[in-house]
Amino acid sequence: TTRIVLASRPHGEPTQEDFRTETVNLPDPGPGEALLDTLYLSLDPYMRGRMSDAPSYAAPVPIGGTVVGATVSRVVHSADDSLAAGDLVLGYGGWQTRSVERVRYLRRLDPKGSIPVSTALGVLGMPGFTAYAGLLTIGQPKPDETVVVAAATGPVGSAVGQIARIKGARAVGIAGGPQKVAYLQELGFDAALDHRAPDFVEQLAAATPDGIDVYFENVGGAVWDAVLPRLNTYARVPLCGLVAGYNATSLPEGPDRSGALMGTILRKSLTVRGFIQTEFAPTQTDAFVRDMSAWVASGEVTYREDIVDGLDHAVEAFRGMLRGDNFGKVVIRVSD
Ligand code: NDP
Repeated sequence: TTRIVLASRPHGEPTQEDFRTETVNLPDPGPGEALLDTLYLSLDPYMRGRMSDAPSYAAPVPIGGTVVGATVSRVVHSADDSLAAGDLVLGYGGWQTRSVERVRYLRRLDPKGSIPVSTALGVLGMPGFTAYAGLLTIGQPKPDETVVVAAATGPVGSAVGQIARIKGARAVGIAGGPQKVAYLQELGFDAALDHRAPDFVEQLAAATPDGIDVYFENVGGAVWDAVLPRLNTYARVPLCGLVAGYNATSLPEGPDRSGALMGTILRKSLTVRGFIQTEFAPTQTDAFVRDMSAWVASGEVTYREDIVDGLDHAVEAFRGMLRGDNFGKVVIRVSD
């Protein structure tokens, strides 16, 4: 297998030098294991956390270890009766062209019609589930309420906005650049804003005349600063991610604003609730699969993939995703 390993822990933005490409022989699959060819590798913002040894909810990738990641793969050889050569599976093969994985951790995929199998990494997979569970469980949008989400053209944000509309709420999407804003309008967001526009704060005020009832937090940073004063009493903030700060090496400069933040949470009776999607998986996966498959099939939820060819482009694509160079769910096509 050809694989990308972590050569050093990135300081700030990851560089090519933080990674190394190696070619090694994999062991034959033992009982309960299968040898897989990677077709698609998912790139996700959480991987930046795995590259760091700061305290986290999951162990870091060791130096010299293959970078982790969800994969859609084809079975080459299975040492377990439940899978046969040629089967397509969702697994966690990481940044490599082949992997040996335990069959009990694989989910067999049954590609249907025109929906590509790579969606198991996006709208029909972990990011879609994150949007569904975080928005409905914590955000609880009600008809005519205003839901705001940033990174809104990405797999999590685009699903948040579209599910909000299905539930009868107004969806306001925030993204970087005019092309992404135009795409949000196509998706049916009620308003779409560019967080890089010089008058972004005024645009947000104009787009949320009745305030904000649900802010699905994906980014933090300047977007959060603009949102906070517009939150309504009893607003809900599912705290999903803070991607604006994933490459940060220190706290932002300036006065300590935590007192003002806590005061706002208190005065407005806000619910700010962090979550890691895995906590909802045991109880909500079935409902997600049922609802999201139906919404995608009916066209009520549409999705956009940003497919990059070749594992050798993974580092570059990963760096770009944290900056917003991607346009849709980033998937590396490792082989056909
Ligand atoms: P995306 O594909 O949306 O990629 C990240 C996007 O963040 C970029 O494309 C960019 O979009 C935006 N961004 C980066 N920097 C900034 C900034 N300074 N201000 C505003 N936007 C910025 O990623 P995902 O949809 O996969 O993930 C979205 C969020 O959800 C991430 O924070 C991720 O960590 C989190 N997440 C959390 C999970 C959980 O269990 N809690 C599970 C899965 C994801 P643009 O060009 O529009 O600015």
